Amino acid sequence: MTDALRPGQTIGILGGGQLGRMLAVAASRLGLHCHVYDPAEGGPAAEVAARATCAAWDDEAALRAFAEAVDVVTYEFENVPAESLDLIEAIVPIRPNRRALAVSQDRLDEKDFLRDLGLATAPYATVDDAASLDAALERIGTPAILKTRRFGYDGKGQARIMAASDAAAALAEMNGAPAILEGFVEFSHEVSVIGARGTGGAVACFDPGENRHEGGILRETTVPARLSAAQRTDAVLLAAKILTELDYVGVLGVELFVTASGLVVNEIAPRVHNSGHWTQDGCLIDQFEQHIRAVAGWPLGDGARHSDVVMENLIGDDVDRIPEIAGTQAAIHLYGKAEARAGRKMGHVNRLTGPAR
Ligand code: AMP
Repeated sequence: MTDALRPGQTIGILGGGQLGRMLAVAASRLGLHCHVYDPAEGGPAAEVAARATCAAWDDEAALRAFAEAVDVVTYEFENVPAESLDLIEAIVPIRPNRRALAVSQDRLDEKDFLRDLGLATAPYATVDDAASLDAALERIGTPAILKTRRFGYDGKGQARIMAASDAAAALAEMNGAPAILEGFVEFSHEVSVIGARGTGGAVACFDPGENRHEGGILRETTVPARLSAAQRTDAVLLAAKILTELDYVGVLGVELFVTASGLVVNEIAPRVHNSGHWTQDGCLIDQFEQHIRAVAGWPLGDGARHSDVVMENLIGDDVDRIPEIAGTQAAIHLYGKAEARAGRKMGHVNRLTGPAR
């Protein structure tokens, strides 16, 4: 462990949202400091981090000063411009590595990567204009979903195509951005695996959770997920395959569709993941500590689950229910956001529903 960080050293975090906040809290428990870099002032992470830089992604002087002040850099936000990362990486290592980021930033590269690994995905085709959309629909059929290749999250940048007559409207929603068409996967439910890989190549995965979305936003994660023993093993093995192939260091989220013919990978996220928040109260070592351990070059912890858990996201004015929730047996995690806008993730609660089954 020659390159392991010692307590008192500093992890730089790109992005200052709730994921950065929970990473900073986990790091502080291990005696490590965090320095958050975010263009927005006063975000959830800055409040709990040892240091914060508020500067634009293209502010070279600020990026350089940040990189020089930290011992390793990680990120909670995937859309940091490549040029900013180049500048940082010339000074200090970035974990997870650039390839992991590049693959997950672009839905086409991501699908190609997964296919080349031999993993099942929705059928897909690249779409740049009306002619390529027609060709893609010809091959894939309907129903299908048109998605922007980059910068999509929580169901944004997506349009469903139920019949060929929806094609023009769906393409207009892409606003000229490069897109991919995905065939609609007939799934019974959605699950995700949160996996981690350390600098030495060790892999540890948390038990898969079952996810319920509303309006494209994660509403609830339940562990254990409804999966057979074989599916559970498949889920963990495929996450390990992705982690190893990417020479990954840190925590990765893999979203899966459960279908009659097996697990189909929807997408991967090169970071701690909302569907892994249950680990904070269901495991001795949660996803945030696991990520910090990996990035710091420490051995991974044992992520075994001690309890069954239901994690509920508090979205928009759900947060008004806090006084009532506080009177129940629920672990409350709020992100310190001042304004409860519609669709905004304000916090989450974990309820333990019994000893691990
Ligand atoms: P995404 O942003 O790609 O994770 O998509 C958001 C949600 O849309 C997913 O969690 C699914 O519920 C649904 N979805 C996305 N892609 C597909 C697909 N190819 N087939 C069926 N449902 C999908």
